Amino acid sequence: MDSNANIIVHEVGPRDGLQNEAERLSVSARLELILALAAAGLPRIEVGSFVRPEWIPQLADTGELVRQLLAQKLPAGLRMSALVPNRTGLARAVECGLREVAVFMSASESHNQKNTNKSIADSLREFEQLIPEARKQGVTVRGYVSCVWGCPFEGPVDPKRALEIGRRLVSFGAEEISLGDTIGVGNPRQTREIVSLFLGGDAAGPGIPAGKLALHMHDTHGTALANCLVAYELGIRIFDAAVGGTGGCPYAPGAAGNLATEDLVSMFTEMGIGSGVDLERLFEAGAVAQRHIGHALTGRRLQAAFGRRAKLAVARAAT
Ligand code: MG
Repeated sequence: MDSNANIIVHEVGPRDGLQNEAERLSVSARLELILALAAAGLPRIEVGSFVRPEWIPQLADTGELVRQLLAQKLPAGLRMSALVPNRTGLARAVECGLREVAVFMSASESHNQKNTNKSIADSLREFEQLIPEARKQGVTVRGYVSCVWGCPFEGPVDPKRALEIGRRLVSFGAEEISLGDTIGVGNPRQTREIVSLFLGGDAAGPGIPAGKLALHMHDTHGTALANCLVAYELGIRIFDAAVGGTGGCPYAPGAAGNLATEDLVSMFTEMGIGSGVDLERLFEAGAVAQRHIGHALTGRRLQAAFGRRAKLAVARAAT
């Protein structure tokens, strides 16, 4: 198989998944989960966040977690990153030894305001400083643009606004832009239009090459995989996913959250498209996540695997 056909999975469960779960996991539980994900062969793991702990108590102590992680024997080539809201967060991430960070903002003014307490213009001003500062220290920066498919407050969002933000982040030095369907309402036709716009550009400027784009889909309406497939056919290879579909959807209680990593990996594997991830070991990481979080996760393949191996899963949960 041509390696250019393979997908790259960017695992966000330990950050995006856990931050939307009510259960607050200990540092040792988070460590166990991340090591299980690394053992499954995930090439990239977003391990936590350096936002203020009073905002997201689930991810407090990310500094301590990173120190413990870096003291472990980790698979060669594993890329670990954390979310940082500003330069203070960047400094903390670097101090702990991380070499990759992610910044986040929204294509919707109302969502950006609610999520970051800043206007889009202010977020861009912050990142215009932060990204070059990170790069100067040899730190790689990924930029999240959320609400590209729609906003919980404003409804439809003009994808050209999202593209303009993406272009600005790339011009500051961001290595990669992850496009988020934050509320999980996107359909494949919309995905084709959005990804084509990002690749091809518009009257205001050029597009962004496929190698610098990732898709971050949520599965609220059950369309995440269909959207990923359309994007794959257009040349996108980097996909965000969260173990077990952790996270739920804060705007639709009870609905599925992030696309489940097992669902993504198993669909592409069955299509003959590689990811380097061992599905059985990924199910084991899913079992670790579910045991610590304390409720059934929404990932379809994970629950199917549990059904097949019910006795085994019960035995593991008891250990
Ligand atoms: Mg997400």
